[in-house]
Amino acid sequence: MKVAVIGCTHAGTAAIVNIAQLYPDAEITVYERNDNISFLSCGIALYIGGVVQDPQGLFYSSPEKLAELGVKTKMLHEVINVNTERKTLHARDLQTGEEFDDSYDKLVVTTGSWPIIPNLVGMDLDGILLSKNSNHSNAIIERAKQVNRITVVGAGYIGVELVEAFEMNGKHVTLIDGEDRILSKYLDEEFTTPIQKSLEERGITLALGEKVSSFAGENGKVTKVITSKGEHETDLVILCIGFRPNTDLLKGQVEMLPGGAILVNDYMQTSQPDVYAAGDSCAIRYNPTGKHAYIPLATNAVRMGTLVARNLVTPTIPYMGTQGTSGIKIYELNIAGTGLTEDGAKAEGMDIDTVMMTDNYRPEFMPSFEQVQLKVVFDRATRRILGAQIMSKMDLTQSINTLSVCIQNRMTVDQLAFIDFFFQPHYNKPWNFLNTAGLQALPKEITRKEEVTV
Ligand SMILES: Cc1cc2nc3c(=O)[nH]c(=O)nc-3n(C[C@H](O)[C@H](O)[C@H](O)COP(=O)(O)OP(=O)(O)OC[C@H]3O[C@@H](n4cnc5c(N)ncnc54)[C@H](O)[C@@H]3O)c2cc1C
Repeated sequence: MKVAVIGCTHAGTAAIVNIAQLYPDAEITVYERNDNISFLSCGIALYIGGVVQDPQGLFYSSPEKLAELGVKTKMLHEVINVNTERKTLHARDLQTGEEFDDSYDKLVVTTGSWPIIPNLVGMDLDGILLSKNSNHSNAIIERAKQVNRITVVGAGYIGVELVEAFEMNGKHVTLIDGEDRILSKYLDEEFTTPIQKSLEERGITLALGEKVSSFAGENGKVTKVITSKGEHETDLVILCIGFRPNTDLLKGQVEMLPGGAILVNDYMQTSQPDVYAAGDSCAIRYNPTGKHAYIPLATNAVRMGTLVARNLVTPTIPYMGTQGTSGIKIYELNIAGTGLTEDGAKAEGMDIDTVMMTDNYRPEFMPSFEQVQLKVVFDRATRRILGAQIMSKMDLTQSINTLSVCIQNRMTVDQLAFIDFFFQPHYNKPWNFLNTAGLQALPKEITRKEEVTV
């Protein structure tokens, strides 16, 4: 079986390593246009902030490691077109310019995503950088050393992590976003307000509700970001306004969402049976709504890549969909979320209710304790849990994984009240705060409808 893989970051590496182990006779060739594989982008901010000292730790595989598994890795090779009817691809060696054809029995498309680049006046100025791969990471680190004022455009989790890292490096930082709060896709206002306060207390300028309209510069270098509300002087700009699937190669050949995310079935198969796809190039089933959504996360990429291998010959293990579970640490605050926020659910037109509980996570007789804030979003009629967010100075983020399991298994907020969780004063109270949220959500009066079904 001849397997061709396009792209070798998280989805590609997971697919390749598992295919090599499961089908030792497979002839695997991977094409990667970059000069490295398996870069953990989540480490960019940690490296800038000095938490990670050795950037080599941000790679977990290499062409040499893949060669040990019998995989042929063609680095600095770009696949420039694919013919899924003839099962061929055309590639270019980016060093020599040589072009050639290859054929496959099974094709794995793990071409990922690329940052959205707006078409604005001044975009060609020097000093406007992206944040996606290791080359970007090196450029940001080198350029940041030479400047004082840095502007990050986009207050999603990547932008917020970057502003924290730059501030920790003593830079004057501005964070611009068109929305009127940071992290607005991931968290509700009760959570974003304290995080914003924490950023502002450190002197970070939050320019929220401002849309960037253009960039201005001197001698070819960016010096100003111009927005709907004014201007921000700067020496460097990092654009973090989102990602789009990198799937032009397959356009018109496999089914996609309008934005270009490839549609795969539960077995990671595209609408062309011998073409599989995984990771940021794909749409994914979002369990809280049951619809396809574009949620580019490394967690989805490694799971989907592994399932490509498991299902490459015979459909065996179906994908379970996702809750888009994610976490972030900003200064002293540990934050995580899963599923829909209240705002997100309302935007979907869903009839939801929420419960918000604030308590100390363990008994006050202990020498120390911290407050925890937990919000659960649930369907008003069925009481099914649809989402949750947690924040504390204590790291309680794993509780969000528990709630992700609850959403995955379509549990109700009433069941959450009575699930068996342990109690031990070092860790929690007799009612774990997850139970407490469920208890608070229970209807205030007994009605015949109130039944806890297990
Ligand atoms: C700064 C940052 C921080 C992040 N932090 C987190 C985090 O904390 N947690 C989390 O879950 N996710 C995080 N993510 C998201 C995560 O990095 C992505 O979801 C993940 O990289 C997706 O992996 P992928 O393999 O699908 O795609 P990609 O990482 O996009 O890789 C695609 C690969 O395909 C190659 N390629 C594309 N086209 C071709 C072609 N035509 N020919 C040859 N090669 C090609 C590319 O060079 C690339 O190597 C972060 C992302 C960024 C940018």
